[in-house]
Amino acid sequence: MIVVMKPGAAEENIRAVVTYIEQNGLTAHLSKGEEVTIIGMVGDKSRLSTENLAIYKDVDRILPVTESYKLSNKKFHPDSSVVKVGNTVIGPDNLTIMAGPCAVETREQLFAIAHAVKKAGATILRGGAYKPRTSPYSFQGLEEEGLRYMQEAKAETGLSTICEVVSMEAIEAAVKYVDMIQIGARNMQNFILLREAGRSGLPVLLKRGLSATIDEWLNAAEYIMSEGNPNVVLCERGIRTFETATRNTLDLSAVPVLREKTHLPVIVDPSHSTGAYKYVPSMAKAAVASGADGLMIEVHNDPAHALSDGPQSLTFEKFESLTKELAPFCTVVGRTFL
Ligand code: PEP
Ligand code: MN
Repeated sequence: MIVVMKPGAAEENIRAVVTYIEQNGLTAHLSKGEEVTIIGMVGDKSRLSTENLAIYKDVDRILPVTESYKLSNKKFHPDSSVVKVGNTVIGPDNLTIMAGPCAVETREQLFAIAHAVKKAGATILRGGAYKPRTSPYSFQGLEEEGLRYMQEAKAETGLSTICEVVSMEAIEAAVKYVDMIQIGARNMQNFILLREAGRSGLPVLLKRGLSATIDEWLNAAEYIMSEGNPNVVLCERGIRTFETATRNTLDLSAVPVLREKTHLPVIVDPSHSTGAYKYVPSMAKAAVASGADGLMIEVHNDPAHALSDGPQSLTFEKFESLTKELAPFCTVVGRTFL
């Protein structure tokens, strides 16, 4: 962090800033120019309030030198991370497809979908057991029973599994049954949940908040990583904009931006971002072309009767055609798939 003083700042005001910095346990480095004095701060800034410093007399600007996220920052970890999930990996050499129903509805439904997505090339089965729905009157999920079906589907098919968690209790249950936990868009800034996810020991898929900036998202990843869990994967799932033609607006530029800022794997969810099955294939292909490490796609045996997100769910046939169409895109970006 650097404090830039106003041109011709009074000596006593410069001294006041230096004293404030030193009182907070940091070291101040002074650089005096003809007109402008710059004060560099070195040390642990967790106790220092830059907002308070900004109101000191003659302070012009306070500039960060490095980003507030460190563990997820590419500057300190230039090589792309590979995250192990059950018996598969998410990383720069391959394209990982997570697919499955929005919500686990019955054992039969989940098993049928698990077999179909595996046949078409998915390696991770998704399925919501805790559903944070917009309305409290919508289907809320089977909870622990749904997690048990996920474990059984894994034993039956060999697919790795992922499930969203919405509370501490859900994390405790998920640890017993699934290979990866998901923090949903609505909980991206639930910092207590993020810390608990960090302590769970399981890899974490962190979805982007509906209105979160990329920096806020990376700071959320930092909460998980700062608990000693480096296994975080980011998922772009669309953001809120003025556009109403799609459920959200898929911010595909987040993929190359994140590539520059972080070493963490990045996947894209064309289902929740568009909200319509017919747009899923083109956005899935665009995501692979943009350099994503994987996709999360909702698939259902009977979308018209799905208990949640039927309109954006692909049928088995549509999912299988899509995975076939993705193969040449993987070749172009140098990733293996299938
Ligand atoms: C989901 O993946 O089931 C989900 C609810 O997605 P999001 O958190 O992105 O809305
Ligand atoms: Mn859904």
